[in-house]
Amino acid sequence: MPAQSMDEIVSLCKRRGFIFPGSDIYGGLQGTYDYGPLGVELKNNLKAAWWKANVYERDDMEGLDASILTHKLVLRHSGHEATFADPLVDCKNCNSRWRADHIGGECPNCGSTDLTEPRPFNMMFKTVVGPIEDEESYAYLRPETAQGIFVNFKNILDSTSRRLPFGIAQIGKAFRNEITPRNFIFRVREFEQMEIEFFVKPGTDEEWHQRWVEARLAWWREQGLSSDNLVPYRVPTADLSHYSKATVDIQYRFPHGLEELEGVANRTDFDLGSHSKAQSELGISAKVMENEDSTAKLAIQDAESGKWIVPFVIEPSTGVDRGVLAVLSEAFTKEKLDSGEERIVLKLKPHLSPIKVAVIPLARNKPEITEKAKAIKKELQSAGFGRVFYEDTGNIGKAYRRHDEVGTPFCVTVDYETVGKSDKPELTDTVTVRDRDSMKQERLHTGELAQYVQERLK
Ligand code: ATP
Repeated sequence: MPAQSMDEIVSLCKRRGFIFPGSDIYGGLQGTYDYGPLGVELKNNLKAAWWKANVYERDDMEGLDASILTHKLVLRHSGHEATFADPLVDCKNCNSRWRADHIGGECPNCGSTDLTEPRPFNMMFKTVVGPIEDEESYAYLRPETAQGIFVNFKNILDSTSRRLPFGIAQIGKAFRNEITPRNFIFRVREFEQMEIEFFVKPGTDEEWHQRWVEARLAWWREQGLSSDNLVPYRVPTADLSHYSKATVDIQYRFPHGLEELEGVANRTDFDLGSHSKAQSELGISAKVMENEDSTAKLAIQDAESGKWIVPFVIEPSTGVDRGVLAVLSEAFTKEKLDSGEERIVLKLKPHLSPIKVAVIPLARNKPEITEKAKAIKKELQSAGFGRVFYEDTGNIGKAYRRHDEVGTPFCVTVDYETVGKSDKPELTDTVTVRDRDSMKQERLHTGELAQYVQERLK
C-alpha cells in the first residue's frame, strides 16, 4: 500500500531524520526546510544520479556552478524584473493573502468571496550588496539557475570549443518568495534546481524538445517513479512563461495531487537574444566578442556556413526537493506481514538509499563480535558505493524495522558463527545478509560482500 497522505511522509521524515522544518526551535520559517542526516544523503544521491546521466554519460554536455547572488541587470534583461510575478489577492474578510490562480475565487481560510482584485507580486528576493544601502546597491538571489548558464554562455564556448548541439548543466539553489508555500517540500521559498540549457540550431528545436521530454521521463522512471504516476502535460499557450514557445510539464501524482515535477521548455533564442541586445545597447559588445561578423553577441559560429547564429534553447528544469518528495512518495509502502504485524518500508531504488548497508553485531556486549562488525563496516565503506552504517542501537528486530523505514537495501548481521564461536566452524567468516524488499536472508562469506552489494546497487 502506498502512502495514504502527505502526513505519513512528513511524519516519517521527521521521525527518522530526513527533513525538518527550517529554523525549527524558533517556530519555523515558512517555506524553508532543513535536510537531516538521511535527507542529505538521499538528496545528494538524487543529484549525483542526475549529474551522472546528464553530464558524465553524454558527450554533449558541460557542467557549471554559477553564483546565487545575481546582478540586477541580468534579471532585468531576462524579463524577470518585469514579469516574474504571481497574482496576489487579499481576503477582505480575514486579511489572509493568496495566489489568485490557486484558490478559485474563494478564501481557503474563511470561505469569503470578498477578495481584492489580483495584483502582480514579484517573487524575487532582493538583497543589499556591499556596506552602503541605497537605491542602486541591490542584487537578487537568483529565482532560477538558468540565467547563470546564459551569462556564462560565451565563457564556456570560448573555453571548451563546443559546437551545436551542446548543453550546460547546473545544480544549485534558487529562491522564490512564494505567496503561499505549502505541501511540505513541494512549494518552498528556498529550493534546489537541476537545470539543463541545451543549445540547438534554430529549426531543430522542436525535435530536440521532444527528445528531451522522452529522456527526462526515462530518467525519472530509473529513479523508481512508475509510468502510471508520471503524466506529461502540454502547457496551453495562454499559460506559457514569458520566454517559452512550448512547454511540456512532467507531472507526478504527488500525495496532494497531480502536479508539476519538471518543466521542459523551448525557450527559443529569448534569453541569449535579449542579453545580446542589452550588451549592444549598453555599449559593452566589443568586450564580449571581437569578431566583426557577429551581429549578436551571445552567438555561436555555425561550423558549416561560418555564419553567426543565436541558438535556440531547450530547457529541462526540475526541482531537487520535488524530486525527493516524489521518490519518497513512490517508495513509501505499508505491508501486512504473515505474522499479522504491519511494516513500513521505503522501497527506494538502492542507488538512492541514504544508507546502502547496515552492519549489525548480534550481541552488543561481546567485543569479538562488535570488533568484527566494525572491521566489516570499515571494509565495506572503503568499497566506495556510499554510506555503510554500523548499527548497534537496539535489538536485531528493531534494527531491521529502522532500516526498512529508511530504505536500507541490505542488513548484514555478524554473529557467533562469524567469529568462529559456534559448533559450526565451517561458518566462520560468514554473515547473514537480509534483503529489504523480500526480507529473505542468505549466508555469505565476508569476502563476497562488497561485490554482492555493488552488483545490486544499480
Ligand atoms: P509552479 O507552477 O509549480 O510554481 P513553475 O512552473 O513556476 O512551478 P519552473 O519555473 O518551471 O516552475 O521551475 C522549474 C522547476 O523548479 C519546477 O518544475 C519545480 O520542480 C521547481 N520549483 C519551482 N518552484 C518551486 C518551489 N517554489 N519549490 C520547490 N520547487 C520549485
